Amino acid sequence: MTGTIDRRSLVAGAAALTLGAPALAQPRRKLGYAIVGLGGYAGRILPEFANCSTSRVTALVSGDRAKATEWARKYGVPESGIYDYTTFDRIADNKDVDIVYVILPNSMHAEYTIRAAKAGKHVMCEKPMAVSAAECEQMIAACARANRKLMIGYRSRFQPHNMEAIRLARSGAAGKIRYVRSEHGFVMRDPSVWRLDRARSGGGSLMDIGIYALQAARYMTGEEPVAVSATESTDRRDPRFRTVEDLLAWTMEFPSGAMAGCQTMYSASQNRIFLAGTEGRIELEPATGYEGQKMWTGKNGRDREVTPPPGPRSTQFAGQLDHLSECILADREPIVSGKEGLQDLRIIEAIYRSAREGRRVTL
Ligand code: NAD
Repeated sequence: MTGTIDRRSLVAGAAALTLGAPALAQPRRKLGYAIVGLGGYAGRILPEFANCSTSRVTALVSGDRAKATEWARKYGVPESGIYDYTTFDRIADNKDVDIVYVILPNSMHAEYTIRAAKAGKHVMCEKPMAVSAAECEQMIAACARANRKLMIGYRSRFQPHNMEAIRLARSGAAGKIRYVRSEHGFVMRDPSVWRLDRARSGGGSLMDIGIYALQAARYMTGEEPVAVSATESTDRRDPRFRTVEDLLAWTMEFPSGAMAGCQTMYSASQNRIFLAGTEGRIELEPATGYEGQKMWTGKNGRDREVTPPPGPRSTQFAGQLDHLSECILADREPIVSGKEGLQDLRIIEAIYRSAREGRRVTL
């Protein structure tokens, strides 16, 4: 692995020595990311390297050469760091790439994660990790064989309101947790997107946005569900919903007796997490967007708005990117490793089965 030494860290380190202050630890090395897929979310991620301390972008992978060249210029990626899907495996020879970040349609996550691991690179893979639990297992195995780290892009785990909500829930601020409610959805307007094509998405609203509700139920309770029950409401005459679901409502039962009630849809806009315990509640709305989170605690209502302490970086995206770099440098497991992605896919499969078969499914 290679990387540049952040000039500011060197200057700061030298200044600390001159002033007799405790010397900083090793100057920070910035690990290089290759971004695979230059679509909408990649466009949201790329500017975030400017907010990172231990990560930089060193390569781009795209089927569109003109776009890749333009973005490479914009984000300081050299010509030699531009690949397409056929030349991707040559990334093995690029010493400036430590991590491959897969931001492709869901059905392509497994293939590119496995090819990246075979090229000797660590992997950041977008959510949902893959289109089946079986694929997730293959991805975990490929990264383990190559001795490379695998992390899933669950950015909310680096978002200050969500981090504080987890801390409050665990500290007993709401008493014994009895239930979590989470609704996540948006109105999908374009019928032509890959998200509405099951072959490329693996499923509808649940795979795309409902996974945030599922994650929230797990990280707010700190428990793993033992059973799920789900009901679906989809108008199959609507051209958007020929192969994927619109609305899914499901409950999850946890070992402590706590329950979660979640909903996801492509036909209404919702972004909320609500936890109720024996002593009070914790509420976030919007909960998991790119920005604008708000959070309240209270006995019976929104009594107090909570301003959380700042997160590890100025944005959740930078916190997520740097977390993997830091885990690689310190040889630690990411807090949202492949196992976390696999667990979500196992539960997602159980939710789909429950809706299909009209029965409670145990895990
Ligand atoms: P997008 O459609 O905007 O971009 C997909 C990219 O993949 C495009 O550049 C497209 O050209 C490329 N591509 C290559 N082969 C393709 C094929 N066969 N069909 C379609 N596109 C193909 O999608 P996006 O919104 O950037 O989503 C990409 C991934 O990122 C998804 O897994 C999605 O779930 C995830 N995502 C995560 C977040 C988040 O907040 N964590 C937000 C948005 C998307």
